[in-house]
Amino acid sequence: MKIGLDIGGSHIAIGIVDDNNKLLQKYEKDIKISESKNPERYLLDNIILLIKDIFSKIDRNEVDLIGIACPGNIQDGKLISAANLRIKNLGIAKELEKEFNIKTIVRNDGKCAALAEKYVGAMKNYKSACFLILGTGVGGAVFLDGEMILPKKDSGFEIGHMVIDINGDKCTCGRVGCFETLCSMRKFKNDIIQKLQLNSNVTGIEIRKLLEDKNTYNLVEDVINIFIYNLSVGLGNLVRIFKPEVICIGGSFTHYEDILLCKLKKELEREVSLFNSNDLPEILMATLKNDAGIIGATII
Ligand SMILES: [Zn+2]
Repeated sequence: MKIGLDIGGSHIAIGIVDDNNKLLQKYEKDIKISESKNPERYLLDNIILLIKDIFSKIDRNEVDLIGIACPGNIQDGKLISAANLRIKNLGIAKELEKEFNIKTIVRNDGKCAALAEKYVGAMKNYKSACFLILGTGVGGAVFLDGEMILPKKDSGFEIGHMVIDINGDKCTCGRVGCFETLCSMRKFKNDIIQKLQLNSNVTGIEIRKLLEDKNTYNLVEDVINIFIYNLSVGLGNLVRIFKPEVICIGGSFTHYEDILLCKLKKELEREVSLFNSNDLPEILMATLKNDAGIIGATII
């Protein structure tokens, strides 16, 4: 049995995962890391408390791995930096192994979600696949011959920071016109807010409802078309480089599946037919949703 944790900016999810990668139980806890004076200690204390709580429910001798999915740059079990958690140089694996004496691994949350979708989710029947998370940013992973490609150094494979418009907006990474600046769901939401002059606090659910109305949809159709065009350019790059059998998309994009997916398939077909229409991959939505991070964190 394994314990998986998925750490986000405002909450931590923890679950018990069996040896067949099945999530048996899941618990969530809200955290207020932005209000903490010592975010590193605060996060670690909360993780330890959650794991101790799990050990009050199951026999700890049955647990042979603790896996953690975390945003940011991670090296050898150490969270080097995670801007939205305000954390730097936190040796999570080392601290937890000291506390619980159980092997602990820490990996990027996008990669963990990709592993979960590859082993038990939407991509399980494919050998070559690209996985993309479209949310606040754009993250992803690539599988060739059934194996995730991992760079030798650093976290790497920053699909979101592939430049697709050299005249575009500045990205948080310092470059200009990154895939993420044009195709994150944050960008999608902000452009719709601007076009419809909505309050900036509007929720994703409210935006979704607005887009279901034909008249409102018509007002933002050009925004949607540009977003989908840019997305097809980024995906087209991935198809040219990796020739995947499938592209799987997760993150908040999936909430708009019925509005955006059909358009994306058409645009990608146009984009891929420019070089070889035989290379057109299937496009699937991720199936594990919010459980992907916990499950993937425990897959080794
Ligand atoms: Zn960038």
